[in-house]
Amino acid sequence: MVGIIEPIVVVGAGHAGFQLASSLRQSGYDGPVALINNEPFLPYQRPPLSKAYLQGAGEPDTVLFRPDCFYAEQRIDLVSDQVASIDRTARKAIFASGNSLGYRHLVFATGARNRKLQLPNADNDDVLYLRSLADGETIRRRLDAARRVVVIGAGFIGLEFAATAADKGIEVDVVELAQRIMARVVSPLISAHFLARHEIAGCRIHCGRSVECIEAVDGRLQGVVLDDGRRLAADLVVVGIGVVPNVELALDAGLPSRQGIVVDEYLATADPHISAIGDCALFSSPRYEAPVRLESVANATDQAKCLAARLTGNPAPFDAVPWFWSDQGKDKLQIAGLNTGYDRVVVRVTEGARSHWYFAGATFLAVDAIDDPRAYMLGKRLLEAGRSPDPAALADPATDLKTLLR
Ligand code: FAD
Repeated sequence: MVGIIEPIVVVGAGHAGFQLASSLRQSGYDGPVALINNEPFLPYQRPPLSKAYLQGAGEPDTVLFRPDCFYAEQRIDLVSDQVASIDRTARKAIFASGNSLGYRHLVFATGARNRKLQLPNADNDDVLYLRSLADGETIRRRLDAARRVVVIGAGFIGLEFAATAADKGIEVDVVELAQRIMARVVSPLISAHFLARHEIAGCRIHCGRSVECIEAVDGRLQGVVLDDGRRLAADLVVVGIGVVPNVELALDAGLPSRQGIVVDEYLATADPHISAIGDCALFSSPRYEAPVRLESVANATDQAKCLAARLTGNPAPFDAVPWFWSDQGKDKLQIAGLNTGYDRVVVRVTEGARSHWYFAGATFLAVDAIDDPRAYMLGKRLLEAGRSPDPAALADPATDLKTLLR
C-alpha cells in the first residue's frame, strides 16, 4: 500500500507565506505544499500600497509576487479559504468553508491586522485603514476626490501615505500621540529630519496630541476634534496606529502566544509539527538575547528562508540582522540593526546623504541612512560581521566607508 504524503500547510499567503512556499521548492523539497490564501487576490507585495501604488501607478497585477501560472509550475497548491481552527491531535487544518486538510507540518504566517480606533464615529465610511490590496484600492480611489485628509498616527505607513497625499496637492494634517514622529522606531534626530521634510512638503504635523472624536453629520464626515479642542476639517481620515499580530488560531490551538506566537530560535512552536514566521511570530533572538517580534518584509522573507532550510534538513538558528526601509516623499530611509539601548549617536554627513550610527559604549548597534544606500549596506555588513567601526573615522566625511570593513 502506498501512504498519502500530507502537505506542508502554510497559513497565510503574505510575504512570509509566499516566500516559504517558494523557498521550499528552491531548497529541493518535492512533497506537496498548500498555501492558504484568505484574500481575494493572488499573493502580493504590501510596501507599494503606501508608495508607488498609491500614487496611481499601475493595476493590481503590478504588485503581485508572481502570475497565476507560477503556482502550477511550482506545484504550490494555492487554496482560497480561511483557516478557522487547527486540530493538533489529528494534525488537521479546518477551514471556514468546512473543508479540512491534514498536514505533516503547519506554519503560521498569519501576519498582523490594523489596530482599530476606539472612538465615536470611528466606523464612518470615510475613516479608512491601509493593510491589504483591497484597502489600497479603496484609498487610492477615494484620494482622487479628497481635498483634506487627516492622518491619525505618524508611523511609517501614516507618513508614507501623508507624503503621497501632499504630493497630490491634498491638504494633510497628521495627528500623533507621541511627542515626535516615528518615535517607536527611530531616534529623535531622524524624527526631526523627517518632520522638517514633511512640513516643507506642506503637511501639518501635530505631535503630542490625540483625537478626542471624529465628527460626522448625517453620516457625512466633517473632520476630527483634538484633545486641545481644535477642529481639523477632513473629507477622509486614514488611520495608521499600529498593528496587532494574528495569534488567535495558535492561541485557540493551545500554543503559547503573547504579543506574537511564541517560537524558539529555530522558529518552532511548542508543537514540533508547527512553526510560525513573519509579523505574527515572537521569536527567541540569539542576537538580542530576548523575544523579538518584527514587522518588516526582510524579517518575513529571511525567516521563511530559514524555516525552509530547516524543513529540508538544514536547521540553523534565525539570526539575521534586521533591516527596514521607508520611502517618504523623495527621501529614502534605510535601517540596519535595532538601536534599542544606544547611548551615543555618530552623525555622518556627506554630499546629499546622511547617516546616523548608534553605539552602546563601543558596541555598534544600528545605522539609519537617509538617501545613503552605501552607509546602510556597509552598516549592515559590519553588524553581520559583529564588528564595531571607529566612531571618529565614521564621523569624518573623507573616510571611505569600505575601509572600515577591512
Ligand atoms: P502579511 O503580509 O500580513 O500576510 C499574512 C497573511 O495571512 C494575510 O494575507 C492574512 O490575510 C493571512 N491570514 C491571516 N489569518 C489567516 C487565516 N486564518 N487563514 C488564512 N490566511 C490568513 N515593510 C518593510 O519592510 N518596508 C516597507 O516599506 C513596508 N511598507 C508597508 C506598507 C504597507 C501599506 C503595509 C501594510 C506594510 C508595509 N510593510 C513594510 C510591512 C510588511 O508588509 C509586513 O511586515 C509583511 O507583510 C509581513 O509579512 P507576513 O507574511 O508576516 O504578513
